[in-house]
Amino acid sequence: MKLLSSLRSLVLGALLVLTAASPVARAQVAPEFVSLQPGTNGEVALKLTAPAKSVFRVEQSADLTTWSSLFSAASVGTNPFTDGGAPFTGSRFYRALAVEPTTVLTGDHLPTADGDVVIHPINHATLVLGWQDKLIYVDPVGGVGRFTGIGKADLVLVTHNHSDHLDASTILAIRRTNAVVLAPAVVQVSLPASLKTNTTAMTNGAVVSVLGLTVDAVPAYNLTSAYHPKGSGNGYLLTIGGRRIYIGGDTEDIPEMRALQDIDVAFIPMNLPFTMTIPKAVSAVRQFRPKVVYPYHFSESNTQQFKTQVGTDLGIEVRLRKWY
Ligand code: ZN
Ligand code: ZN
Repeated sequence: MKLLSSLRSLVLGALLVLTAASPVARAQVAPEFVSLQPGTNGEVALKLTAPAKSVFRVEQSADLTTWSSLFSAASVGTNPFTDGGAPFTGSRFYRALAVEPTTVLTGDHLPTADGDVVIHPINHATLVLGWQDKLIYVDPVGGVGRFTGIGKADLVLVTHNHSDHLDASTILAIRRTNAVVLAPAVVQVSLPASLKTNTTAMTNGAVVSVLGLTVDAVPAYNLTSAYHPKGSGNGYLLTIGGRRIYIGGDTEDIPEMRALQDIDVAFIPMNLPFTMTIPKAVSAVRQFRPKVVYPYHFSESNTQQFKTQVGTDLGIEVRLRKWY
């Protein structure tokens, strides 16, 4: 029975690509694909339906044998999604699966040697990463209401002491008791006593291993203004299951960013006057070549322009997500 059902979903996946509009795609399973449209830029626009609030996951495969997760989401009924990774692969098959409605974090999936990392943007500079049963909050601000339905933090990363990155009351509200907080010294000294004891101060260059992952504090600073002095704040480089995730923090296109290597996912800020212009962000990204880049901390900046200028020739996937 198990084999049969697995074969059936494989066949369904193939048919979805080859005959997306055919009635076959409307099998009696939830979720189901309703359209699949390759764009002129090589990206694939998918649309699938699933009962509202049910959780589903979309996977992709090049050979119908090995599948990896692309993203998961709580259904809003009809769910559009653009696969921006499609231009960089050969043939691509898709399948969708219902996920048990637990408190599982949804978002983009980054497969690692040790389970998927789930990437969940919240707002501006705030995001949550899920890995195994752990939740990592980055620069949580704005009150607990922004994190409704997401479990408590096991690890909190704070980049610096500006109010769009640091809010002690939000950290207190979203952290699991004794969650580890990693932050620059300037942040640690400002925290209330109840948080300070669980906080490890990290200077640029410091490395901490925690919860089975490695966190490198990396420089984040301005070159052309004084908003973010060198050495005061941190960016973070996370190594999880062999994958490397770079969180820029508030920074310009500093040499240390340009020298990064083997980055799987990068979060890059682009807003003036606090971080950098789009041309600077484009230039830096095209130099260090992360596989995937998320513009974040961009306010009114034109992220579509960023995506266009990064281009597709270097194999860099730019993911535009809802941050505001
Ligand atoms: Zn700042
Ligand atoms: Zn900021």
